[in-house]
Amino acid sequence: MATLRFSAIQELFSRQPKEVVLPSNKVTDYYAENVFTKETMRKYLSKDAFKAVKKAMESQTSIDLDISDSIAEGMKTWAVEKGATHYTHWFQPLTDGTAEKHDGFIDYSEGNSENVIQNFSGSLLVQQEPDASSFPNGGIRQTFEARGYTAWDVSSPCFIVGTTLCIPTVFVSYTGEALDYKTPLLKALQAVDKAAVDVCHYFDKNVSKVVPSLGVEQEYFLVDEALYMARPDLVLTGRTLMGHSSAKDQQLDDHYFGSIPTRVYKFMIELELEAHKLGIPMKTRHNEVAPNQFEAAPIYEEVNLANDHNQLFMDLVKRVAATHKFRVLLHEKPFAGINGSGKHNNWSIITDTGVNLFSPGKNAKSNLQFLTFVVNTIATVYKNQDLLRASILTGSNSHRLGANEAPPAILSVFTGTQVANTIQRLIETAGEDLSTAGKTSLQHGIGRLPEILLDNTDRNRTSPFAFTGNRFEFRAVGSKSNSAAAMTALNAALALQLKEFKADVDAAIKSGLKKDEAIITVLRKVATESKSIVFNGDGYSDAWVDEAAKRGLTNVTSVPASLENYLGEQAKKVLVFGGIMSEKELEARVEIEMEKYVMLLQIEGRVLGDLAVNHIIPTGVKYLTSLINNVKGLADIFEGEELAKLSKGRKELIIEISEHIDAIKDKVAQLRHVRGEANKIENETQKAYEYDKKVKPFMDDIRFHIDELELIVDDEEWPLPKYRELLFFR
Ligand code: ADP
Ligand code: MG
Repeated sequence: MATLRFSAIQELFSRQPKEVVLPSNKVTDYYAENVFTKETMRKYLSKDAFKAVKKAMESQTSIDLDISDSIAEGMKTWAVEKGATHYTHWFQPLTDGTAEKHDGFIDYSEGNSENVIQNFSGSLLVQQEPDASSFPNGGIRQTFEARGYTAWDVSSPCFIVGTTLCIPTVFVSYTGEALDYKTPLLKALQAVDKAAVDVCHYFDKNVSKVVPSLGVEQEYFLVDEALYMARPDLVLTGRTLMGHSSAKDQQLDDHYFGSIPTRVYKFMIELELEAHKLGIPMKTRHNEVAPNQFEAAPIYEEVNLANDHNQLFMDLVKRVAATHKFRVLLHEKPFAGINGSGKHNNWSIITDTGVNLFSPGKNAKSNLQFLTFVVNTIATVYKNQDLLRASILTGSNSHRLGANEAPPAILSVFTGTQVANTIQRLIETAGEDLSTAGKTSLQHGIGRLPEILLDNTDRNRTSPFAFTGNRFEFRAVGSKSNSAAAMTALNAALALQLKEFKADVDAAIKSGLKKDEAIITVLRKVATESKSIVFNGDGYSDAWVDEAAKRGLTNVTSVPASLENYLGEQAKKVLVFGGIMSEKELEARVEIEMEKYVMLLQIEGRVLGDLAVNHIIPTGVKYLTSLINNVKGLADIFEGEELAKLSKGRKELIIEISEHIDAIKDKVAQLRHVRGEANKIENETQKAYEYDKKVKPFMDDIRFHIDELELIVDDEEWPLPKYRELLFFR
């Protein structure tokens, strides 16, 4: 009987690209047609209802219940016209992915069961009560009631997927603790808005709002559906737990920006179409470095919306891929030894007067503003290395970070030489009399920025946090993660930094310095303190690890150790003191993340154990038996020295295979034992450490022996699709 692997490969021969027809070649004809946009609202809502929604969107407040019925009615009319039959509160619990519970519009009219109507009331739109105990809640559930609330986030528009009207919501416990990613993100965005506006007022009194913006580059792998189904590890863990590297992988770099294969191309066209209908402004698509790796990026938007759109996109990419008989791997490291996937968070802050605060200006004054925000951002990363790392270092991302082709678990900032030189110049003016020569020369330096920065080819792909001309790119974020965690940490940390900066500048002004002098003096201090985080060299090199240690930068690779940093002094200052999360919420969050890490290793350990015992060992034994029979057969024909000579190689192979089989069996037993021991630990953090130290090392160990076996066992017998098939068949 053919192995599952060979029947899967067989299926590939009949694969055809799926035909995709665009409704129009003008994207504007169908863009956002499934979104309850402002324009649609104007059509479907009464004047008062429209005004109420608009006001709530602008002031970031909630909707008055009195008007909510009228809004719900208009929204329902629109949704039903578009074919919707159900509605759901769409939210982002602390898992990977989003949650939804669909309810039909169906209802009895005034309790009369003979009279079924379509109903959707304002109270159903604005608030719901899903059972919080079915989502991660880090113990908040034990102390309080299981009920949780979802409440409409008016700043993100409602949309229709399939036949369901989706209402973006926050998710909080009965007692008000956030149980999701969105709630703290919204708070962090408000905090940075306020803090940045205050600092902007040194330069321009007209600024009244600052909007953090985000453009997410999403990397992913595609694997043919049949091959995917023949890999239980991919199905259950999202990554290959075994598999020897292919004779060819990415050495030639011939995939990057190469022409997109037809089947994939058709898939991408449909993906973009569906995204555009949902108002997700997808713009860029291309191949990535590794074979079968791709990337998609939208035009940047306000952070909360951009993140909702990325969450929706991750869901969409899976659904559309399935109709093309592909499966999407969003995991950060699906293949050992091959490039992993990130989710580069391109981030900037933009004023309501239209100024990107990370864009160098046209004169010395606007450049001083630019420098103020850039230097404070650098200081933010410097002071919050541990918090930022905690926000991105998940179990799955830990396989990618620090591997040879991804930013390491050391935080650093790439500035490019021009900004680095300007900052250096700023630092060197120490002691110079700013009212005369020093000020002029510094202003001269600042004033020259625009022309230089026009050339933003000055890129560094090895930095976890890179300045790219008019934005920072937080590249260490994992492809599977919800960016909200990183964006919450970053924006909240910048808010605190800007507040401290402003307090210092105000104090300097009070002590008699002129405004510009005060700003420059404080900036110099901030730049000097934080300059060790600036690194413009090769972030992937071993030399950087040593250099970073000399500079006193932190380097934490263990997930539990990194997560504990959420509870460090600086992180608490940013998040708790900064009003983003209560201490209890923060502790719950850490507990949830620890639990997630344990669960990840638990599942991976089980899957690896099962595969090893049920697939690999039997395959090895089967081949071993055929070798033994072969040697026995030789003995029937030959004897003496001749037999010894002829059977030598085969006997060696028998020993080699036996040794690997024994090692696998042995180590799987040990893995089960240490896992059982670790499971006895009650405390989630201690358990996570135990899993990290004791369980995890077995994974690589067992894999080693399996991968060696793959190299020697008969190809016909190997049960799991190999790397060369997963990576090159499409
Ligand atoms: P690259 O691969 O060169 O980094 P891409 O074009 O793939 O660039 O992605 C860049 C991302 O950065 C896009 O999502 C883009 O919209 C976004 N972006 C551009 N300018 C800004 C900005 N000022 N703020 C935030 N994001 C931005
Ligand atoms: Mg990029």
